[in-house]
Amino acid sequence: MSEPFLERLPMHKDLLEAITDVFRRRNIRQASFTMIGAVENAVLGFYSHERKYENRSFTGSFEVVSCVGNVSEKDDEIFVHAHIVIAGPDCNAFGGHLMPGANIFAGELFGIPVAGPVQRRRHDEPTGLALWE
Ligand code: ZN
Repeated sequence: MSEPFLERLPMHKDLLEAITDVFRRRNIRQASFTMIGAVENAVLGFYSHERKYENRSFTGSFEVVSCVGNVSEKDDEIFVHAHIVIAGPDCNAFGGHLMPGANIFAGELFGIPVAGPVQRRRHDEPTGLALWE
């Protein structure tokens, strides 16, 4: 069982990909995490009741006010699910499901491995999402 850890994320990499890389490199299959920092651009998703993600793209520099998520397995791979709140120079905030497209300016990740049987994501018919069994 690994300990909680702090890790700096690499500049100019995609945020979702970089977080996923950290947990895959450490072979941590179940965890919770928080992340703060700054990004250039972002794509936020909203899962509508019509069972599809509606994405909204943001261009420019943003603070990552809060990024929280979890790590579990999907299709036998380590999978990251993250939500994010970003704020621009006027401090107005936007939030949603973290999609690929946020370019890291600076990032600090706090990972908390979770012991016990690993949650696995499977297609859930009522929601159309890949949820824990
Ligand atoms: Zn989500």
